[in-house]
Amino acid sequence: MSNPYLLLTPGPLSTTATVKEAMQKDWCTWDHEYKTIVEQIRQQLLEVGCASKEHYTTVFMQGSGTFGVEATLGSVMPSDGKLLVLINGAYGRRMEEIAKVLRIPHLSMEFDANMPVDPHAVERKLIEDASITHVAMVHCETTTGILNPLEAVMDVIKRNHRKAIIDAMSSFGGIPIAVEELQIDFIISSANKCIQGVPGFSFILCRRDELKKCKGRARSLSLDLYDQWETMEQDSGKWRFTSPTHVVHAFKQALKELAEEGGVEARHERYRMNQQIVVEGMTQAGFKAYLPRELQSPLITTFLYPTHIPFTFEHFYTFLKSAGFVIYPGKLTDIHVFRIGNMGDVHPKDMDRLNAHILRYVGESQYAN
Ligand SMILES: *Cc1c(COP(=O)(O)O)cnc(C)c1O
Repeated sequence: MSNPYLLLTPGPLSTTATVKEAMQKDWCTWDHEYKTIVEQIRQQLLEVGCASKEHYTTVFMQGSGTFGVEATLGSVMPSDGKLLVLINGAYGRRMEEIAKVLRIPHLSMEFDANMPVDPHAVERKLIEDASITHVAMVHCETTTGILNPLEAVMDVIKRNHRKAIIDAMSSFGGIPIAVEELQIDFIISSANKCIQGVPGFSFILCRRDELKKCKGRARSLSLDLYDQWETMEQDSGKWRFTSPTHVVHAFKQALKELAEEGGVEARHERYRMNQQIVVEGMTQAGFKAYLPRELQSPLITTFLYPTHIPFTFEHFYTFLKSAGFVIYPGKLTDIHVFRIGNMGDVHPKDMDRLNAHILRYVGESQYAN
C-alpha cells in the first residue's frame, strides 16, 4: 500500500510506513503496558524540549492542535488574569477567538503578516498595562511560514514577570527549542506535525509550579488541562477519557524515528535543506517567495501567484497532485498566494523531483501561451 501523493502541507504530514504499521493492533487503555508507553512518551517529549522532569511535565489532550490551545488558554487563565495575544497570522487570530469565546479578558497586538512580532513593542505594552498577566504567541506562524523571535520575546516576557503560552505547533521537534532555558510556562504542539506522527492528540509541556495553580480554573470539563494531568500522574499514564490508542503507538514509533534521525537538530537540518531546494527550484521557475529569506522558517514557504505564465491555483494543484505532490492554498486575505510545506517524511530527493515537475509545468504553460 503506497501513498498516491506526498503531503507538502502544514499538516497532517506524510509519515513513514513504519509509523503507520504501528497502528495495526488494538490496545487496552488501562492496561499497564499501554500506560507505560504513555509515561515514556511524556518523558521523551520533555527531552525533545530540553526540559527537566523536576520543573516540567507533559500533558496530552485528545483532538487536533486547536484543542490543545483551547485547553491551555481555558485552563491556565485565572478569572482575574488578562491575556495579551500577539497576532501576525491566522493562528494568532485563532487564539484571540478562543479568548473571546471563553470570555477570557484579553487584548491583542497585531503585526502585519509579513512582519515578525516586535519584542520592543511587546515590552512597551507590558510596561504600559500592568493588568496583563499572560502573553500568548505563535512560534512559527504557519499561515505564511514566518518565524517569530521566540528568544527575544521570551526575554521581554520574563524580564517583565509575565507568564508565557507558546503555540509551537508547527515548530516543536523541527526547530530546537530550549523550553526550560527560555522559561516558557506552557508550550503546545500536536502529534501530526514535526514529530511526524498521525493526527489525534496534542501535547503541552507545562511548568509544574504554574500547572499546579490551575486546579478548578478550566472553562470546560473535557478540555481541563489540570484534571487530565492529575489523572495521568495519579494513575501513571491514564487519560481521563478514551485515549487515541493507535495514534499513541504511532507517536511512540515516530519519536523513536526522530531519535534515529539524530534528534531535533538533524531533523531541522533536513527541513532546512528541503526548504532551500524548493525555494531555489521555484526561483528558477520564475516564482517569488512572499517573505524575505531572513524571516522564513524552514518548515513551509508562501509563494506569490506568478505573472509570467497564465496561472490558476486549481490547475497547478491538479497538475502537481497527478505528479504525486499535494500543495496548499494560501491563507492571506489581501494577496494571492499558495504554500509549499516541507515537513514530514519528505527528503531532498523528493524536493528535486518536485522542482523538475514545476519546471516542466512552467515550460508547458509558456508554450501554451
Ligand atoms: C497546525 C497548527 C495549529 C493547529 O491546527 P489544527 O488544525 O487544530 O491541528 C495551531 N497553530 C499552528 C501554528 C499550526 O501550525
